[in-house]
Amino acid sequence: MDQAVVAREAAVPRIVCKFGGSSLASAEQLLKVRAIIEADPRRSIIVPSAPGKRDPADTKVTDLLYLCHHAASMNSDFSAPLAQITERFTAIERELGMQPMIQGHLERFRDQLASGVSADFAASRGEHFSGLLLAAWLEAEFVEPAECVVIGANGLVDPATWPLLGARLEDRARRYVVPGFYGRDASGEVRTFSRGGSDVSGAVAARAAHASLYENWTDVSGLLMADPRIVPNPRPMAEVTYAEIRELSYMGASVLHEEAMAPVREVGIPVNIRNTNEPDHPGTRIVAELSPEVIQSTQIAGVAGKASFAMITIGKHLMNREVGFVYRLLGVLEHNGIPFEHCPSAIDSVSVVVEARWLEGRVDSLLDEIRRTLEPDELEFVPNIALIAIVGEEMARTPGIAAKVFGALAAAGVNVRLINQGASELNIIVGVAPEDYAAALRSIYSAFVG
Ligand code: ASP
Repeated sequence: MDQAVVAREAAVPRIVCKFGGSSLASAEQLLKVRAIIEADPRRSIIVPSAPGKRDPADTKVTDLLYLCHHAASMNSDFSAPLAQITERFTAIERELGMQPMIQGHLERFRDQLASGVSADFAASRGEHFSGLLLAAWLEAEFVEPAECVVIGANGLVDPATWPLLGARLEDRARRYVVPGFYGRDASGEVRTFSRGGSDVSGAVAARAAHASLYENWTDVSGLLMADPRIVPNPRPMAEVTYAEIRELSYMGASVLHEEAMAPVREVGIPVNIRNTNEPDHPGTRIVAELSPEVIQSTQIAGVAGKASFAMITIGKHLMNREVGFVYRLLGVLEHNGIPFEHCPSAIDSVSVVVEARWLEGRVDSLLDEIRRTLEPDELEFVPNIALIAIVGEEMARTPGIAAKVFGALAAAGVNVRLINQGASELNIIVGVAPEDYAAALRSIYSAFVG
């Protein structure tokens, strides 16, 4: 950040608050949202999702919009899903006691659907209408993302957005509502991020506005150290680094949208995951560097895993002297369009771990090609292997972490099929048979947390 920006930021710090679909699903939820915003004057940039599910049997407004678009594009009747959407928005308006304003927008949208719009345009209307309602109710300024959020051909935010959106959010005395999920493409057409993309919009707004914090309000009180479906009552994480989150979410821990971290990480804006239904809970902070108290209290950030991998192991005597051996092995994968996840090696053997779905229906032909190309002494194929990542920035500096992991696995009677520690020393990855996966995860978690 340049000095002028730093000085302004210090004078009037701003927080971007993104509210997810469940936080905006009903008038009752919106009252909680308002109380949260009004509790802190720094909460001046609000990024809403479309209304989500009110209960498990309900349908998200975005899903209804895709249904409308699909029916309209087949020249079929879309009045039933449109009526549901209308009911959702008008009920919120009515229950909040607002001046009716949304009906007219919905009628225009019905005509637009009938005359033909893109799927992205139709889907974006959930956030658009949600933003209009919220801006009117909070007496905030509505910012149209189709004018100032540019989405590239790769579906990611285009840096042209920073000055454009930054200029729209310049007045630090005002409150703004910037709908999530959409922007425009290079030719000016409405374009959405991928599903769940309001998380990305929140990060984009935080970056463009030089915010001091990005609060992501959802329906859980932060992130947990392990998957609660496997580990009973896992501990919440108070603080975690961007790098740790990247490792944990790669291994299946569902956190923020994958593309939401980059815009804020690049400029060091911290993220705070909070719960709209439990606003006093501090949630989880995602930061560049852990604070000293957190470093002392946990040796690891968390454990996560996935049971969806396969492994090919190639053994060949004097492999270490054969120049280009691994290059040729990875060449076979490249030639078949298969990305690999890990490649642990020994002196005379090397394994590649891939997502099992890439191998469906072509294991035999791939193994044949490996045999022809590399003439191995042994070739082993393991169709299912589960990987568990033990993640923590402090691992590199703390002796005894590996001993704890492998001691716990031995005590649980789990056979370790693979070990991989990245050069970053941010994680240790162990591979186990799928039937040992849950026991392995539980034993590692209890070794560190008790
Ligand atoms: N409403 C969009 C979706 O359902 C985006 C979001 O909620 O983040 O995917």
